[in-house]
Amino acid sequence: MTRGQIANVDLVKQVNSSAVYRLIDSRGPISRVRIAELSHLAPASVTKITRALLEQGLIRELEHQASTGGRRAISLTTVTQPFHLVAVKLGREELQLTLYNLSGQEHGRQVLPFPRRELDNLMAALHRHIADFIQRHAGERRVVAIAVVMPGLTDAQAGRVIYHPSYPLAGVALAERLGALLGLPVFIGNDIRAQALAEHYFGASQDCLDSVLVSVHHGVGAGIITEGRIFKSQGRDVAEIGHIHMDPLGERCDCGNVGCLETMVADAALLRQAERMLAQGYQSCLAGEALTMSALCRAALAEDRLAVNILRQAAERLGQALAIVVNLFNPQRVLLSGALCEAEELVFPIINRAITHQSLPGFHQGQPIIRARFQHDQTIGGLALVKRALLEGELLQRILEQKS
Ligand SMILES: [Zn+2]
Repeated sequence: MTRGQIANVDLVKQVNSSAVYRLIDSRGPISRVRIAELSHLAPASVTKITRALLEQGLIRELEHQASTGGRRAISLTTVTQPFHLVAVKLGREELQLTLYNLSGQEHGRQVLPFPRRELDNLMAALHRHIADFIQRHAGERRVVAIAVVMPGLTDAQAGRVIYHPSYPLAGVALAERLGALLGLPVFIGNDIRAQALAEHYFGASQDCLDSVLVSVHHGVGAGIITEGRIFKSQGRDVAEIGHIHMDPLGERCDCGNVGCLETMVADAALLRQAERMLAQGYQSCLAGEALTMSALCRAALAEDRLAVNILRQAAERLGQALAIVVNLFNPQRVLLSGALCEAEELVFPIINRAITHQSLPGFHQGQPIIRARFQHDQTIGGLALVKRALLEGELLQRILEQKS
């Protein structure tokens, strides 16, 4: 066989194994006969694939009484607890690491400062911190993958960073370089897009195939899930909702334009606005207090006029931008994550009203916006990236090729 044919044979193997694994994951406990029917694979192929999955401990057999009576029937179900991963958030001068198993249980977490530095030192430091973390927390546990999520832009398919706001990673094949250092497969992705996928797999949009997560923190970003997958363009990130142009006379944004949504509703923008109004002598219970998003939300819920006005205006702007997203993607659900959620009673009805009035009537039902489940878990997106790699076959194949 030529190299190309071998590659094709491997690909077919991977596609078939992942089709069987996905069926067991989504429909299990399920019989081999039923898997063959649903996957259109020959029963002999199903037997062969399930044998390999059993050998690696990825699935197990359950024996039960057949519905037709008489003979005992065997069904298959996935096993996720023994497989672990380290999810890393490569943030803005901060590193967060979490050890999860594939069921989503946490077995260790660490947050540490991670200052800017040049590329070779950066890679060495990243490698050292992850290796130390594995040594300290994993013990005898089987670690099968690493996932790195980050702000900025990534080409997740190629494992390449396009832009990171804090580190000189532009153009770096991070997945490959880190993978070679750690001896484990590494998956990378944008933090918000990955979080949207986590909400789809484990969180507030589990029951729908199409959803949008909007995250308002340091910046404003979105992750769009269509048909259960992250909506993207040739593997690259899309949905930079924070840079939707809202005001031609607005403030200068980090991206170089003016009047982006981010300059109006991100946490820093709201706190700046509060500070300015306080300096101008507006009455508020916030005068003399440390200005934080929590304090602003608390003040708004206590009907402090200044705080109410700031949050109301932000909610209206956010609603306007979300109505555009709803018109474009017609999601079944829109999730919001961010400190703004602390003033949910005030903010959500305003956003919902904007969506209701500004998007197509058939595109929204009831209360379109709800709170995302993962408000504070910065690494949960990494768990989703690894789960995806397992379901889509790339990681599954790696595990199947390991000696058990
Ligand atoms: Zn911008």
